[in-house]
Amino acid sequence: MKIKELFTKEKKVFSFEFFPPKTEKGEKNLFRAIRELQDLQPDFVSVTYGALGTTQDKSLEIVKHIQTDMGLNVMAHYTCIGATEEKVDAFLKSLETLRVENILALRGDSPQGMSVEEAFQNSPFRHAIDLVRYIKKKAPHFSIGVAGYPEGHIECTSKEKSLRHLKEKVDAGADCVVTQLFFNNEDFFSFRMHAEKIGICVPIIPGIMPIENFRQLEKITALCGSRIPRELRDYFNRTDISDDDKKKFGIEHTTAQCRELLSKDIPGLHFYTLNKSSATREIFEKLHG
Ligand SMILES: Cc1cc2nc3c(=O)[nH]c(=O)nc-3n(C[C@H](O)[C@H](O)[C@H](O)COP(=O)(O)OP(=O)(O)OC[C@H]3O[C@@H](n4cnc5c(N)ncnc54)[C@H](O)[C@@H]3O)c2cc1C
Repeated sequence: MKIKELFTKEKKVFSFEFFPPKTEKGEKNLFRAIRELQDLQPDFVSVTYGALGTTQDKSLEIVKHIQTDMGLNVMAHYTCIGATEEKVDAFLKSLETLRVENILALRGDSPQGMSVEEAFQNSPFRHAIDLVRYIKKKAPHFSIGVAGYPEGHIECTSKEKSLRHLKEKVDAGADCVVTQLFFNNEDFFSFRMHAEKIGICVPIIPGIMPIENFRQLEKITALCGSRIPRELRDYFNRTDISDDDKKKFGIEHTTAQCRELLSKDIPGLHFYTLNKSSATREIFEKLHG
């Protein structure tokens, strides 16, 4: 089902994100996590795509398995950094063959040690908007999502500029925005208010990272630029609290974050599962309990 149709229903839209693992063990864990989350009946699941990376074919394989064999509604991520038109065409063709109707159109990041400019070489796609426009021209039947950044994009010098670029992606035909993870709901509410003010009218879905493994979270936020609030960092750095208690606290904290968002008229929630089921499942059940 097309994502844009999901938002025309009364119900909140819940989705789970997975990434293509690099090892056989990782793959087993991934499929176990998907099976364990499947009965929560997500409205869609999304599969990330390694920008200029080695897991690109794996991404399509996983999309195929989830959409065709497991019968889940998929949104496939695609990053255009360094891509040629032929490569994008081939990806879109593969999605059509698999009957995938949704795509998250992204620019992606350059690999470590390579500048964005180097990564762009020989590619007609400079920004995600170029991909959105291209898909609209070549395969307009896809429902398109794009990324948004409540705290501003890490490379962008101002939140206003970051929002203007988001508006351009929406004006080019994106049906929804999925946000980068964030921990301070005020960042999201302010982002949404300013987005609406400049005429972004499509659903904006908060991206939620369950707080389970704090060290891993620190690594992820260092890459994407999301801010971990001081009180959270202080709590997880305490040595007098057991790992079990920290885990419980993390789940309670994320649940409270989701509850507040849901109480303020958001269209749905997108969970970054990190290919694990337990924290997402627990939070989801608490929200629906
Ligand atoms: C929900 C979500 C899912 C993601 N999934 C993946 C994934 O599967 N694989 C992956 O590799 N990465 C993924 N990412 C990370 C993403 O690729 C990076 O954040 C990347 O740096 C930016 O991608 P974008 O699509 O937002 O790019 P863009 O929208 O192109 O923005 C990139 C930068 O360029 C600026 N910009 C945009 N348009 C213009 C313009 N016309 N002129 C000047 N500057 C401009 C923006 O302000 C921003 O600073 C995801 C991010 C999110 C939020």
